Amino acid sequence: MACVRIRDLRDRQNSETIEVRVLRKWISKGKKEELCYQFVDAHGDAIEAVADVKHIEHFDSLIKLQLCYKVSNYICTGPRRYMAIVEHVASLVIGQKAEFEHVPDSAIPYIYFNFATFDTIKRRIRDTKLLTELHTGRDVEITLWPEKSDIVGDDVVPGDIVAIASTVVTEHIGRVQLESTYLTTATINPDMPQTIEHVTRLRGLPEVQVTETVDKTLTILDLKLQSQQKGQTPGNFICEAKITRIHEDRGWYYVLCSKCSNKLYPVYPKQDSDGLIFVCKDDDDITPNFRYCVNTTITDATGSADAVFFNDSMQEMLNISCMEMVTKHADKTNPKIVPQQLRSAVDKPRKLHLTLKNDGKIVGNNVSNTASATAIQTGEGTSTFTPKTPIPKSVTSKRTLTETPGNDKKQKKS
Ligand SMILES: [Zn+2]
Repeated sequence: MACVRIRDLRDRQNSETIEVRVLRKWISKGKKEELCYQFVDAHGDAIEAVADVKHIEHFDSLIKLQLCYKVSNYICTGPRRYMAIVEHVASLVIGQKAEFEHVPDSAIPYIYFNFATFDTIKRRIRDTKLLTELHTGRDVEITLWPEKSDIVGDDVVPGDIVAIASTVVTEHIGRVQLESTYLTTATINPDMPQTIEHVTRLRGLPEVQVTETVDKTLTILDLKLQSQQKGQTPGNFICEAKITRIHEDRGWYYVLCSKCSNKLYPVYPKQDSDGLIFVCKDDDDITPNFRYCVNTTITDATGSADAVFFNDSMQEMLNISCMEMVTKHADKTNPKIVPQQLRSAVDKPRKLHLTLKNDGKIVGNNVSNTASATAIQTGEGTSTFTPKTPIPKSVTSKRTLTETPGNDKKQKKS
């Protein structure tokens, strides 16, 4: 019997067998936790399926990622509303009686993208939180939050194509930008005919100089005035100022796992020898990846404001990596004590490249050769910069996602 197409599934429709590959699995972190899957069929159409997270063991034994199944006895319902990664009028509910019959590898794609065009993403800012994949010939900034800051590896070269999936569209300084979510993935040169063609074409082009837009120079007073004008935000800008204070109580670095990129926790070792060690809740044998996150006050002749400096800018300022700073100079027992070597950044006049976010919150910024700052907050708010603050990066570099074997290929375009 022929299987029904995913594309044709509708809310309340009777369950007919579908044949799918299971591409992704995640736990939705909405109001209620849900075990979610993404299925794709041979036509390249995708749908989300939701199960009770309490039964994760049952489903783990039944469903393996990247394998193909004939699925029946599911329930067809309306689309998921919260952080959906697929745009479809229906989604599936799979319970204990849902049946998954493994089928040998078939011609079902291993990857799925549903690219939005640049012109259509703006309306997704306020829309339902549909996560977005963007395909564009224009420059778009993407903010990768710390837990996703390493999804694009340093081995990526100009001309490579990076497909970023499952981001949210936000507005940043009057420009549309993408922000990573916990579901965001990056695939370098995804194995699709179109990509191979583009990569070949782009690599054949003469090397281009990356043009950097020249930012305006503003004073801190200008910045504060700008931030008070609703909807009127400057671009990135330069501010000639110095760091006058480091907010020690907020810590000055954070630590990520070398295996899973999640946050590491400081723990006292069993034999108390060398101060704190950092452990991952999931992995053993890891290397801690230390990254700067330094909360400061910056000051010029017109006033002061809070600013946070992230890893790249701090490293540029200090000429020493965070790892080295921690291992060579930091207090081993109290991560909040700022080492003297770090204090050397204080009170030196600099050209700071800054970004101010619409809502008065802070954004980190890329570092240019001249200067080193990052993010600024004006206003009287007392928000604390924790490692949760984003590390924005342009999509210019990074690593392949191993979860995409990509033999077969198919992409959907919107
Ligand atoms: Zn880990």
